[in-house]
Amino acid sequence: MKKIKRIIRDVPQHWVGDGFPVRSLFSYGGGNEFDPFLLLDYAGPHEFGPDQARRGVGEHPHKGFETVTILYQGELEHRDSSGGHGTIGPGDVQWMTAASGIVHEEFHSRRFAKAGGVLEMVQLWVNLRAKDKTSPPKYQDLRDDQFPRMELPNNAGTVRVISGEFMGHTGPASTFTPVNVWDLQLAAQGKAEIEVPDGHTCVVIVHRGGVRINSEAAKAVELIHFEREGNIINIESESISRILVLTGEPIKEPVVGQGPFVMNTREEIRQAMSEYQSGKMGHLAPHK
Ligand code: MN
Repeated sequence: MKKIKRIIRDVPQHWVGDGFPVRSLFSYGGGNEFDPFLLLDYAGPHEFGPDQARRGVGEHPHKGFETVTILYQGELEHRDSSGGHGTIGPGDVQWMTAASGIVHEEFHSRRFAKAGGVLEMVQLWVNLRAKDKTSPPKYQDLRDDQFPRMELPNNAGTVRVISGEFMGHTGPASTFTPVNVWDLQLAAQGKAEIEVPDGHTCVVIVHRGGVRINSEAAKAVELIHFEREGNIINIESESISRILVLTGEPIKEPVVGQGPFVMNTREEIRQAMSEYQSGKMGHLAPHK
């Protein structure tokens, strides 16, 4: 059985822009113990009233990694300087590779802003190897119906595979290094034993309900961080629950970051800032 390293609880909420009430369950500022993952923000569930203005985060850069947005409730619109553009709704995932540098904006969709409603989402940052940090930006727009879904044994619940492989089913997201992203919905009193790759960094985020993981209780919104050794996790749900399982092969390279740039050296951070300031990462066309 995989040992639990620690459980992260009681994380305070803060606002990212005026659209995203997030809890940062971890970030690279605290060291590199979640390698290859750099940051995990869980937003909501938060009810927004109807609004004329669109809430969100305006034009800003990223370089050296990928941002993965998993939407559970609400609707978001995105535009970036590589021409990537899209609206994502419940169940959809946007996997954006910033790599050599991109400028983008993240807003509630016009439709969602006008109607109001509940927003719930995860944003995960996945690091890239030094050799991939200079590759061109890329945007994967992944729809709910593209993800394989399978039943867990004994009616314990269902699994959606976003990336990597679970029980022989492969998720559609392409990744630079081995990364598993599995979305589990558990029935009340469901019991499941899941196998994760030995040696991977592994975390489980409980964002609805309550579970026991390897007999330790965890509830929404808490994060269980495992030791890298071992490959079996036992899950028992106490009520209808939803959890996100992330595993990733550690990259084991130096991480030097500042805000939206994550590189390997201070010099590369200075370079990223000057590239952004001189417009080399591109710009967004003004809103019509
Ligand atoms: Mn961003």
